[in-house]
Amino acid sequence: MDYSVVKGTHDIIQSEAEGYSNIENILIFNAKIAGFNEFRTPIIENSSLFVRSVGEGSDIVRKEMYTFKDKGDRDITLRPEMTAGVVRAMVNSKLFAQQDYPVKAYYIGPNFRYERPQAGRYRQFQQFGVESVGADSAIRDAEVILLGYNSLKMLGFSKIVLKINTLGDFESRIKYKTALVDYLSNHIDIMCDDCKERLKLNPLRILDCKVENDQKIVKDAPKLHDFLSNSSKSRFDELLEILKAQNVEFVIDESLVRGLDYYTGVVFEYSFTSINGVDVGALGGGGHYGNLVKELGGPELEGIGFAFGLERVASVLKDENLFKNEISIDAFIIPLDKKYFEKALTLASFLRVNGYSCEMNVESANINASFKKALRRNAKFAIIIGENEIKNDSVQVKNLSTKGQEEVLLSNLVEFFDRSLEDDHDHCCEENEEIEK
Ligand code: AMP
Repeated sequence: MDYSVVKGTHDIIQSEAEGYSNIENILIFNAKIAGFNEFRTPIIENSSLFVRSVGEGSDIVRKEMYTFKDKGDRDITLRPEMTAGVVRAMVNSKLFAQQDYPVKAYYIGPNFRYERPQAGRYRQFQQFGVESVGADSAIRDAEVILLGYNSLKMLGFSKIVLKINTLGDFESRIKYKTALVDYLSNHIDIMCDDCKERLKLNPLRILDCKVENDQKIVKDAPKLHDFLSNSSKSRFDELLEILKAQNVEFVIDESLVRGLDYYTGVVFEYSFTSINGVDVGALGGGGHYGNLVKELGGPELEGIGFAFGLERVASVLKDENLFKNEISIDAFIIPLDKKYFEKALTLASFLRVNGYSCEMNVESANINASFKKALRRNAKFAIIIGENEIKNDSVQVKNLSTKGQEEVLLSNLVEFFDRSLEDDHDHCCEENEEIEK
């Protein structure tokens, strides 16, 4: 019997999960204050959704989807990405007929791709992302790109590089594809097997092939930017000007095409490589989509979105010592005798309903063992219940960092914690103010 995790998956537990929650809270907070509302869509979708949107010729659909027949003979896929499901939900719920544009969504959850597991690449991974659909302008593009950029800054990354490119409109791309296929046909015999297949299905994807020999061939290929229509060019320039004015550091990367067929117009990736860390690939990426809403049965509306890979964000934060995963509690209750165990429970419950986190030792009345447990739980205060305290309706409260101790009446205990832990709260707000500047 094999009880290890499935290859390419991993457990995220305890303090590591705390670190992930902290990341998610910041990302969700930023999305909410920018007017994005949460979407929770199913993990399973009809396979046709992804074949249609992500594209039959994409690597994801060709090789990476977890697809199966359910007991009703439906063709089902575990979602490999979330944009398609979110846009499907917008269309199915008729949001475009009922709400102002853009309709703005954020989402978070697991995705599944049968990829070769390696640094930063899993078969089940979490994404956080946003979509802004229905109002098509360079300003709205910039709003989404900035949200991702500022969120990464808020997580503590000092130097994020935004790689950006445009795939142009439909007509520009058709012209370019023809020229690219013409050029590559003369070299394809010596290119990798994947590229041979891509040439037939998805020739643009050859541009970001990582095989060294193929990259040399691609270097001399026709450039997409030479085939852009005037409107595509000016839309891209307008966006770049806005990003410059917003102090976003970006580099134009003409080989950036992204792997999902629904992208048209601007595509981008957020990258960060720590000095001594492994390059885990892009922290996130996204782009503009011109036809996806219509393809999924909705009106002719365009959208833009991005998704971060949370494992990659966490991994780079760890490398940079920015992963905040300490679990602490406000108080640890120490009854000095078995007969006070129930009092300990009453007190724990009282503190918890007042919003203070606490634990108690009701497994033994050994004071030394209890203090050790309090330290292991990272408690800020120990609350001791002994005979005198019961008599006086009070407790002894010991600050575990300053070691100062005082008797506090039970009737004053909440006020005591409000006062003592207020600093922690102010401190955390100051930190946020600092980052936002
Ligand atoms: P995509 O949905 O392909 O546009 O990817 C968006 C982001 O999701 C990437 O930049 C990665 O951070 C993350 N991602 C994609 N595939 C994986 C994977 N197999 N494992 C971990 N993260 C991934």
